[in-house]
Amino acid sequence: MAIKKIIAIASAKGGVGKSTIAACLAKVLGKDNTVGLFDADIYGPSQHLIFNLKDQINSKAFKTSTTNLQPLKKENLLIMSMGFYINKDKSLTWRGPMLSSVLKQIYNHTKWGDLDYLIIDMPPGTGDAYLTIANEVNPDGIILVTTNNIMSAEDTLKSKITFNKLEIPILGFLINMYENGKGKYKMSAKELQNLLDVNCFGTIYFDNNLAEFKSQTITKIFKPITELI
Ligand code: ADP
Repeated sequence: MAIKKIIAIASAKGGVGKSTIAACLAKVLGKDNTVGLFDADIYGPSQHLIFNLKDQINSKAFKTSTTNLQPLKKENLLIMSMGFYINKDKSLTWRGPMLSSVLKQIYNHTKWGDLDYLIIDMPPGTGDAYLTIANEVNPDGIILVTTNNIMSAEDTLKSKITFNKLEIPILGFLINMYENGKGKYKMSAKELQNLLDVNCFGTIYFDNNLAEFKSQTITKIFKPITELI
């Protein structure tokens, strides 16, 4: 099993679009490459919902083994998510060490095969999951996601600082669900750039078509990112 490049999509803030961006990037890369998508958001996985994998998870052919985990194939992508294994009406309350060991187990026992890219959809926060991903997976680069809201930007800055400490390169950031106009908590693209002080890949407006993968924005925004990585 060889994985050529591992890119993680991260922000300490939840709800800023990490899973959506991870899915879009995987789809764009998947047009010309073999791509895996690992949903590392153990407490709130989304990729099984984004890719509508319910039927595959519930099918008899879907085997659950703790040491031979098969990613599910959808739209040319290989997808692995904690969402395949937890009951939809159960929430998890694991402590850090338990979370780390489950993340480690899922990552290490997934039969990815040879991949050109593995995209990791990171959980919010900057705790144990970050350390586990850094130690076990060691991504080649991070793409940060923020909205243009100061609460989101400050949390995203925390992610940047954590990855800097872990010595994982930040490739840049994306502004997602951009809202025009003035407001107490709103920040301009320039202010975000000054605060985060890393390369800005661009601005994505609130766009329901993007969430449904129908938008032209996907190719426009993600093409330069795919070229860089
Ligand atoms: P996170 O992974 O950071 O928690 P999600 O990707 O789950 O965030 O996105 C949160 C919600 O916002 C989802 O309902 C998603 O469909 C929606 N969303 C994300 N990006 C956009 C966008 N650019 N325009 C419209 N809705 C979006």
